[in-house]
Amino acid sequence: MENLRKKIPSGQDVAIPPFMRDWLAAPKLHFIDGHFVASESTFETIHPGDGSVLATIGRGGKKEVDAAVAAAKASFERGEWRCRSLEERCAALEKLSTLILEHLPALALLESLDTGKPLRESFEGDIPRAARNFKFFAEFARQEGSSCYPQGNVFHYSQREALGVVALITPWNLPLYLESWKLAPALAMGNSVVLKPSEWTPLTAAYLVEFLLPRVGIPNGVVNLVHGFGDGEAGEFLVSHPDVSAISFTGETRTGRAIMRSAAVGPTRLSFEMGGKGASVVFADADLEKAAELCARAAFRNQGQICLASPRVFVESSCFEAFTEKLAARARAIKLGNPLNYQTEMGALIGSAHFEKVKSYLSLLNTPARVWAGGKTRSPGYFVEPTVVSGLPLDHAVSCEEIFGPLVSVYPFQSEGEAIEAVNATPYGLSASIWTRDGDRAHRVSNALRCGLVWVNTWFLRDLRVPFGGQKRSGLGREGGAFSLDFYSEWKSVSIQFSGEEG
Ligand code: NAD
Repeated sequence: MENLRKKIPSGQDVAIPPFMRDWLAAPKLHFIDGHFVASESTFETIHPGDGSVLATIGRGGKKEVDAAVAAAKASFERGEWRCRSLEERCAALEKLSTLILEHLPALALLESLDTGKPLRESFEGDIPRAARNFKFFAEFARQEGSSCYPQGNVFHYSQREALGVVALITPWNLPLYLESWKLAPALAMGNSVVLKPSEWTPLTAAYLVEFLLPRVGIPNGVVNLVHGFGDGEAGEFLVSHPDVSAISFTGETRTGRAIMRSAAVGPTRLSFEMGGKGASVVFADADLEKAAELCARAAFRNQGQICLASPRVFVESSCFEAFTEKLAARARAIKLGNPLNYQTEMGALIGSAHFEKVKSYLSLLNTPARVWAGGKTRSPGYFVEPTVVSGLPLDHAVSCEEIFGPLVSVYPFQSEGEAIEAVNATPYGLSASIWTRDGDRAHRVSNALRCGLVWVNTWFLRDLRVPFGGQKRSGLGREGGAFSLDFYSEWKSVSIQFSGEEG
């Protein structure tokens, strides 16, 4: 890692190297059946740090989706991948993991160019975690066994089988990371896939299929990539395709609703990771310094564009002022600026439409709101200052809606019950964190919160074996470890009678 790190200068703005400029100058095509395929229509992807155009991307439609699904289906039926041993499939995924790390500087730079997130976050966080996903699922899938029930000379055993063609639909906030979260278990289980990355962030997926995938020996047609938009375009054609056996989707809750309607054509197996409106609950007995540090991270990491973010912080009244000042001080200290400078801690929002959306919430911060930090935007590019507010009613739009930006709202509470009720008063139920030194209380409150993930005295710690997903409108199903293997495979039970008396 240290050697790779040397390729990224720390104190200065990183320039796009010539080889990457040349690569970006060529249109990014779909990858279908092992070949690059152009489409009639194209769109442009931009760098949110300054709004400049990075690359031209193929805009997939029905034709491209039909071709990709047909290629995936044919590869599945030929069995070149699903009939390989689990060991061979896992070895290919491990190789992919190694290649991602070898290409870390290029992938990190592309991810930051495409998303506007700080280079340090791509380099030290997102891209290594994408590599880790491939390695983890390779190791995990290998370890798994199955049960056998012998009854005399009859043996009943079960085995996992691939599903067929799996559609993978991903958002823009953690592009390669979330693509690998789906690709790794889907491929480990022997499926053929069609990936539709977000139209906002197609570049790292394009790089993966062009430079890394051909080097790991996965047969043509097993991994297909169609670029393009969702509604009425590539995404919708993909999720409504009758030959798709399963859809793994991460994105907004309203998109999940639309996909569910389209997928009724199957009906198709679904896994949805959707929106959130996370919360932190800070009790007066907590380590307030640590709580403020982690609450700031939970509010501002990735410019607040993380489903697991905590844009609401409920603070026990007796420490409300002191805690909020600590949180605001951290917000004011964050280095906001050029995503391509390694010292930058917060970069730009993904693009103009999202920038306008977040701005519209900032414009609602009039009386009775008190703005403790931030509240302003910066241009060129799509920058929003890390913002801390208090004084908003619980039914205010900022308190209720998923903003997905660097805006955290702080609320005082008097009692544990009041805090629990406030955290649960949202249609979302993805994650929350609790800050207290009282173990009984931590247990009680975590039991009462209606969400899929709870952290106590920490935030964002993940073990890839644990079930990941949301309650209420934040998700459907769980992924992670065996939960991912369950989603991307189905069990077949076999009973064999050997000669002799039946048991
Ligand atoms: P989005 O729903 O707008 O888009 C996600 C993907 O769905 C994109 O690839 C898009 O092209 C595609 N899509 C859109 N409409 C479609 C349709 N009708 N049919 C098929 N595909 C369609 O989400 P986004 O703005 O890219 O991402 C931000 C959202 O993702 C936030 O709500 C965030 O909370 C959520 N998210 C959730 C998790 C989680 O694990 N729960 C993780 C990351 C992001």
